[in-house]
Amino acid sequence: MELIRKNQGYVCTCKRDTISKNRKDMVSCKCSMRDIKQNEEMWEKMFNRYKPGEAIVRFRGNMESKNTVMRDPVLFRIIDERHPLLEKKYRVWPSYDFAVAVEDYTDGITHALRSKEYELRNELYYAILDALDMKKPKMMEFSRLEFKGMPVSKRILRPLIDEGKVSWYDDPRLPTLEALNRRGITSEAIRKFILSLSLTKADTLAPFDSLEAFNRKIIDKNSIRLFMVKHPKTLTVSNLPNSVVELPNHPSNDMGTRQINVDANIFLSTEDVKDLNIGDQLRLMGLGNIKITSVNSEITAEFIGDNHNVDFRKVQWVSQSSAHKLKILIPQQLFIDDKFNEGSLEEIDVYTEPHYLELKDGAEIQFVRFGYCRKDSANQAIYTHK
Ligand SMILES: [Zn+2]
Repeated sequence: MELIRKNQGYVCTCKRDTISKNRKDMVSCKCSMRDIKQNEEMWEKMFNRYKPGEAIVRFRGNMESKNTVMRDPVLFRIIDERHPLLEKKYRVWPSYDFAVAVEDYTDGITHALRSKEYELRNELYYAILDALDMKKPKMMEFSRLEFKGMPVSKRILRPLIDEGKVSWYDDPRLPTLEALNRRGITSEAIRKFILSLSLTKADTLAPFDSLEAFNRKIIDKNSIRLFMVKHPKTLTVSNLPNSVVELPNHPSNDMGTRQINVDANIFLSTEDVKDLNIGDQLRLMGLGNIKITSVNSEITAEFIGDNHNVDFRKVQWVSQSSAHKLKILIPQQLFIDDKFNEGSLEEIDVYTEPHYLELKDGAEIQFVRFGYCRKDSANQAIYTHK
């Protein structure tokens, strides 16, 4: 054992309590006075004579160091439990600090990445490598990634779950991987996003928009376009020439088409029709142009042709007879100024096309003129982003 031979480590047979007390008082124990020969004999005994807890190997650090990690830390201890892989072949086991330092060296690591929480252990990491004359990798720390208003620590998230303020770790408002996935943020987007951030030691507050931008690029090409209306208003159209229309599932990628049965009874979103007057003209996307003939609690209009070169307002629509009722969950910022946002999960009831039911759970959809959503179930979708 090289460190003992070099007198950089020694066997300590003190009780646990004594060791902690000495560390607190910054004093060495009598074991540290033994000579190399005695230590070598005791080291041998750790393999066959001592029982677990009776002897450990400690690094000769500095009992007076301000960094408590350096006060003669443990390098090896005896563990008699069966190791799942190595069975009972070994009895004396290295500490985390020793194992990490030596493994990084033997693996030829040139740059080691560790989370900032380990900062205090770096001095020991380097000291062990120095004592063994091993080349030191450059240690880089990174901080935890957090989005504004979305804390990641379990200490904060757990009580929200216990109090029923969020449903579970996959609640779409949370920044957990399960939640991001359920919301429709792909792992590829997360990876690209993280790589785009430079590693920084200061705790990072990343803009969620930039993760969304990566994700949008990835999901756009595979997201089926569907019509959806919220706060439906009924529209009755006279003189419609077709009873079936065929619509492309994607504007540029070949994702096939779908057919929609139409009759005179249609739903439009209230926000698209609230300022309509008699005589106004609209284009119902994929269906044709109409002219408004009355605007009361219900709207009536007449079909006026299918000329695409019009500058009428273009709106999406849903056929009433086959409309599928759906709930969309819209996650908002979970915390505002460190306070739980009671309105952090908005729910809206909408109507969409029956084709929604043919999609698999987890499918990504772009609801036209609304945004991307992920199908969560037959009756529920989760808003991904604009
Ligand atoms: Zn001791």
